[in-house]
Amino acid sequence: MLETICETLVEAYRRNWITSRDGNVSIRHHDRDHFYVTPSGVRKQTLQPDQFKKIGIVKQPINRNVSVYNHTLLDYTDISSKLKPSGELPLHFGLQKEMGQHRNDVRVVVHLHPTYCVAAMHAGIDLSTVVKDFPELSRYTKVAKNVPDVPPISQELADRCHKNLELANDGTISYDIVGIKGHGVVAIDTSPWRAFEHIERLEHICKIVLCSRKFN
Ligand SMILES: [Zn+2]
Repeated sequence: MLETICETLVEAYRRNWITSRDGNVSIRHHDRDHFYVTPSGVRKQTLQPDQFKKIGIVKQPINRNVSVYNHTLLDYTDISSKLKPSGELPLHFGLQKEMGQHRNDVRVVVHLHPTYCVAAMHAGIDLSTVVKDFPELSRYTKVAKNVPDVPPISQELADRCHKNLELANDGTISYDIVGIKGHGVVAIDTSPWRAFEHIERLEHICKIVLCSRKFN
């Protein structure tokens, strides 16, 4: 599936949803205590599976309901060892440390900067509100409330995204996608293309809303 992630990022670049070095993706299989995340600063048009970073998840239970988690860099490939993980690692780690409703499956977290989603937030639209007028969107994609302006690659960005997605201790999330004002979106599903499609669906509706000029 790392190959598939590379394909989705090439497609995201082709659609102007990212510039060359933007965007990041992580993937975890339920039976592994590690996940893979895209490296920092690599051109997404030429990203290869052997450039990903392998991140170990270290879980220390405090009591029956609460655990402390840490991440550790694991060896993967020679080419990978020369690269750093995405600066948005806190965002990905928080969503990958427990898998919630994906506990018997795969979890993929995709962060991109789709043009019309970002434009809609810039125009003052909360992406969670466009759902009510477009049932084809709400049927397949649950949209969380926007995260306000927060610094990129910060713990604050990660925390605010996790909060608005209603991330629970067991990794369960209530939404499929969340927007970050002045920045981009984060989508979660069980395959790279399924996560991509949440972004595609929301991007399409944001384009319609902005073209209609019917918003406050
Ligand atoms: Zn970003």
